[in-house]
Amino acid sequence: MTVGTGAGSAGTELRGREVAAAIRAETAERVAAGPRPVLAVVVATADEATLWYVRSIAKAAAGVGIACDVVDLGPGARPEEIRATLERLGGDPGVHGLMLQTPLPEGASAQELAAAVDPAKDVDGANPLSLGRLTAGLPAFAPATAAAVMALLDHHGVELRGARAVVVGRSTVVGKPLAHLLLDRHCTVTVCHSRTRDLASVTSTAEVLVAAVGRAGLIGAEHVAPGAIVIDVGTNPTPDGGLTGDVDFDAVIGRAGALTPVPGGVGPVTTAILLRHTAMAAGPEGRDVR
Ligand code: NAP
Repeated sequence: MTVGTGAGSAGTELRGREVAAAIRAETAERVAAGPRPVLAVVVATADEATLWYVRSIAKAAAGVGIACDVVDLGPGARPEEIRATLERLGGDPGVHGLMLQTPLPEGASAQELAAAVDPAKDVDGANPLSLGRLTAGLPAFAPATAAAVMALLDHHGVELRGARAVVVGRSTVVGKPLAHLLLDRHCTVTVCHSRTRDLASVTSTAEVLVAAVGRAGLIGAEHVAPGAIVIDVGTNPTPDGGLTGDVDFDAVIGRAGALTPVPGGVGPVTTAILLRHTAMAAGPEGRDVR
């Protein structure tokens, strides 16, 4: 898919499920060729939506031949206990992928605790060392959501070299690592945030626009150049218990060249990437991340 503004035709929906299925199939093949990888997920919450998400990771893992060990420390877990668990699993040669699921109990800092995740097993790219290595162009696991955006663009054949990319959001889990991944692929990258003046004047220059904010409908038609490829990372709860993105889908779909839906866009790909990373961590790529 070529990028470029002014394409003029109504947008294509870039669905994530087919991308996720392709990544899972490729991962299953890789897993079948070697010993069974193990992904450990450390959880310390009673939040039902989070526990549902972790169960969905375990189910998807089983589907590709990866064992998922959910280590549930409960909502009362102390930071020292979480850290010790991460260190123990990091040192366990039988565990290949390791992630700490948020939210955490009050007083436990996800950013501080993520530093206890061995970078070679850090399949969600949460350890600050992973982001540092990524920035320096060294082997590292990118946060799964940022890697999922790249996988979506690649699967749909979006030509990135030389493209003007705008990322709205600068968190360490999505916006910043994504800006580096796009830069590595020779995009010219601009990062916007809550203090950006006249957001639309910047986003409307993008050939590839990524919204990773957490504000329903922030990106309207006026923010999007005709023909732009728009990736919506945002997941915002709706009053009826559903989810909606950062992009006003109905307003933008007729103007963009392509747009990801929410739900069904980046989300399913993120889970598939966690599995791909676990399979990689169990193989030679994991040994490179040292
Ligand atoms: P976050 O840490 O809250 O960061 C949000 C970013 O948006 C910040 O950089 C913030 O700017 C910026 N921002 C806030 N209001 C803005 C505005 N009016 N205009 C421009 N920028 C604005 O959120 P996150 O963890 O990156 O997540 C972002 C969204 O992605 C959320 O909806 C989250 O649920 C979703 N998400 C989805 C997946 C998935 O797999 N689909 C995974 C992770 C996250 P400042 O830095 O100036 O505060």
